[in-house]
Amino acid sequence: MLAESCGVFGAKCLDGRCVFDLLYWGLVAQNHRGHESYGFLTCAEGFRRHVNVGLVPQIFGERYSRWRNFLQGSTGIAHVRYGTSGDRGSSSRLNDAQPLISSHGREKIGFAFNGNIVNVNELRSRLKASEGFEAGCDAAVLSKILVTSIDGGLTSGVERCMRDVEGAFSVVGLRPNGELFAFRDPLGIRPLSIGVSEDGAVNAFSSETVGLDINGLRFMDDVKPGEIVVFSRDGVERERLVKKDRSAFCAFEYAYFARPDSLLNGKYVFSVREEFGRNLGRRFRDVVEKSDVILSMPETAEDAAYGLHEETGLKWERILRRHRYVTQRAFILEPSERVSTIDKKVNIMNGRLKGKKVIVVDDSIVRGDTTRTVVRKLRRAGAEKVYLFITFPRITHPCFYGVDMATFTELIGFRFDEEGVAKHVGADGVFYQPLEDYVRATGMRFNELCLACVTGEYPTELAQKMADAAKASTDMDERRIYERAELTRLGGST
Ligand code: SF4
Repeated sequence: MLAESCGVFGAKCLDGRCVFDLLYWGLVAQNHRGHESYGFLTCAEGFRRHVNVGLVPQIFGERYSRWRNFLQGSTGIAHVRYGTSGDRGSSSRLNDAQPLISSHGREKIGFAFNGNIVNVNELRSRLKASEGFEAGCDAAVLSKILVTSIDGGLTSGVERCMRDVEGAFSVVGLRPNGELFAFRDPLGIRPLSIGVSEDGAVNAFSSETVGLDINGLRFMDDVKPGEIVVFSRDGVERERLVKKDRSAFCAFEYAYFARPDSLLNGKYVFSVREEFGRNLGRRFRDVVEKSDVILSMPETAEDAAYGLHEETGLKWERILRRHRYVTQRAFILEPSERVSTIDKKVNIMNGRLKGKKVIVVDDSIVRGDTTRTVVRKLRRAGAEKVYLFITFPRITHPCFYGVDMATFTELIGFRFDEEGVAKHVGADGVFYQPLEDYVRATGMRFNELCLACVTGEYPTELAQKMADAAKASTDMDERRIYERAELTRLGGST
């Protein structure tokens, strides 16, 4: 199971109502995007901030009122985090929790971001001489670049970020004057949507549209790649600061990260996943014909399993169930904890698999721990054959843009071909959805998606150089590639 860097939310209430309700529910709806920490920042005669580690807590009654009273103001931003940079210790989780407040001279901004910076080492050393950082994560570097160049105006500060920073960044920010802004990197790698209330009194940004839905807001548009959007008392201003001839939206959002009821680039994620399942059925009909039943990994593979069932007519049984309140995401744990967590998370209804040949639909195989554990459980439950149908093509390269798979050696798809992966996880066969089928199902074109973890073709220059160098060195260095100084120097001065 994987973790992504973050989810963001921001809102401005022009009718003066308290923004906290919107922020709170905007985060609850997006908690799947980050389990390490959460935070709120509002603007009411100065900034008010509350951050903590863990999931967004369930608060109600008097406790809810206390939070609401403290986080006053009609404009605010909020954030859930899973760190793909910086230290993973628990004190740094709190230290790196966002939103951050960044200052420079008399300038101050509130800042929350989803993504990952590739040239972070170089930027950090360039800034270090003159500025301290508010935290150890990428967000602190990006926010510092912005706040130190904002005196020429917000737009010129954001322009500098887009020029100097290589990587994925979908940002929401807040200024002490109550201005709410958002911008997205020139390739639009991570999602960021704009919403509005029916009466026009509330404007909002959300990583996923589910953050708008839960608040009764209507999806209006996406923040475009390279665009800045500002909501102020005077209305909305939008400007496309950088326009490239391609975009690079993270293809993996469709298979795993986004909630099925979110809209990505005009399509509901569940409908894309159903199509993934239909594609698998069409491609691997021979395997379907020799199988007795379709199973699905809860919950990201359920829509694809439905599509597979619909296409082939093969029975789909929801024999694998999730223990609902085991909420740890296996990917963020230490390897030793990971397997036992997965074991506790997935339950198999016994007595229904004896002698059966099963197809298990899953969204991806990254390190193989989850898959191996589940296959072992299925064997114990009596399954005779286990075939794995995987919606995301084989992951062979690390990600530099906000998904925590940052070395070659951790990737089972880098170390083995299909047959080797099957052997390693104990399955009778692994069948990945072909890349062209995957892309077609999303409704996007190849040059609108990032597919680097599958193809090894990175949409940014330094990432490509670092991946090529790390691959060529074939070492077993387990540090994240973008945190290895000898590789990050490949970009020279940006
Ligand atoms: S490398 Fe893979 S996971 Fe990372 S942004 Fe690109 S498609 Fe998404």
